[in-house]
Amino acid sequence: MNHFGYKGGVLSAEDVGLPALAARVGTPFYCYSRATLERHYKVFAGALPKESLVAFSVKANGNLAVLKTLALLGAGADVVSGGELAKALAAGIPAERIVFSGVGKTKEEMHQALTAGIYQFNVESEPELLALDEVARELNKRAPITLRINPDVDARTHAKITTGTAETKFGIPFARAREAYARAASLHNVEIVGIDVHIGSQLTELAPFEAAFEKVAALAKTLRADGHSITRLDLGGGLGVPYENNNMPPPDPAAYGKMVARATDQLGCRLIFEPGRLIAANAGVLVAKVLYVKEGEAKNFLILDAGMNDLIRPAMYDAHHEIVPVKEPVPGAERVVYDVVGPVCETSDLFAAGRALPELKSGDLVAILSTGAYGATMASSYNARPPAPEVLVSAAEWAIVRPRLRHDDLIGQDRLPDWLG
Ligand SMILES: *Cc1c(COP(=O)(O)O)cnc(C)c1O
Repeated sequence: MNHFGYKGGVLSAEDVGLPALAARVGTPFYCYSRATLERHYKVFAGALPKESLVAFSVKANGNLAVLKTLALLGAGADVVSGGELAKALAAGIPAERIVFSGVGKTKEEMHQALTAGIYQFNVESEPELLALDEVARELNKRAPITLRINPDVDARTHAKITTGTAETKFGIPFARAREAYARAASLHNVEIVGIDVHIGSQLTELAPFEAAFEKVAALAKTLRADGHSITRLDLGGGLGVPYENNNMPPPDPAAYGKMVARATDQLGCRLIFEPGRLIAANAGVLVAKVLYVKEGEAKNFLILDAGMNDLIRPAMYDAHHEIVPVKEPVPGAERVVYDVVGPVCETSDLFAAGRALPELKSGDLVAILSTGAYGATMASSYNARPPAPEVLVSAAEWAIVRPRLRHDDLIGQDRLPDWLG
């Protein structure tokens, strides 16, 4: 459920009409709903065993205002870089609720995270383990660690967001786990606290999660028998969201919570979750203006003022996003088939091919739905286009939470060497 809907004939975020926002902010822009973020967080956290840590995946949406919204509800953060760690801390997420994931942590990032005193490092390889031990020794600290285990389970999602099969770069192979834990136990400046697993994103079935969690639970028993202290299980993120109205909805958090309990209850571990998309995707829309309607030889093109630099998911993952007119269409309005594209000079700058929409004209506003996750965080200034600004709505209030960069801001990022010209 989300708080976007037609009110008084226009698409609104909570109590704020998007045309009024567009008039104030300009297009394109991202609009997030605080009530939706809060609802998604509460529904998910409420479905999990008490004492669980819900560490929001900052890479899904790193806006400080979004992070603060979640921090106020008690959320932690899952970060994958020093930059994300700094953002999570700046948003008021306490270090003891921050976990650090990712295959390529640098020693500088390890130093930063150890100094901050984060809750745990999810270590993804033996070389990384040795590096972390070294940095912790220099700081005279012990780094709390889990090892990310690759359970070799197919998440049955898009190939580019599958992470738990043997072919991907993520984690330590299941068969090598005992060896890797023994290695970790031999190091003085890391402290084993648990096991980590994350098999992919946008999972629409529970079965792959269950297969992975059962493997992890069995491993926990083995590792305990080997003498390791396993008190935490980090079960990652990955629960999918409905992007299309007409397909099967992904499993709901309650069913996920029950399955988790079934797989892990007997271990008495503290559970950690790293949801990103589930919390943020349907809490945001990208509002764009139709620049031109172009009648091609074979197709009609709806050319928007938002492009793949603002939202890359369709180009990168063949992602489907619903696109709706901001002005409420009359019931039964006739539909026209469009290729909905952006202005960027790439053929892949295509939001939707062959999409039937109510007829639109130049100047009309559209909203690209379910773009609160992996939208703004993946934006770039390709084609020297300032990425879409971000707005957060709360009931009848709204604020620009990331302004649009001016051309001078973009130009100011470059430097001319004095020996040039
Ligand atoms: C991306 C990622 C997540 C979040 O995934 P969602 O599908 O957005 O829930 C969680 N954990 C790790 C390690 C990730 O890389």
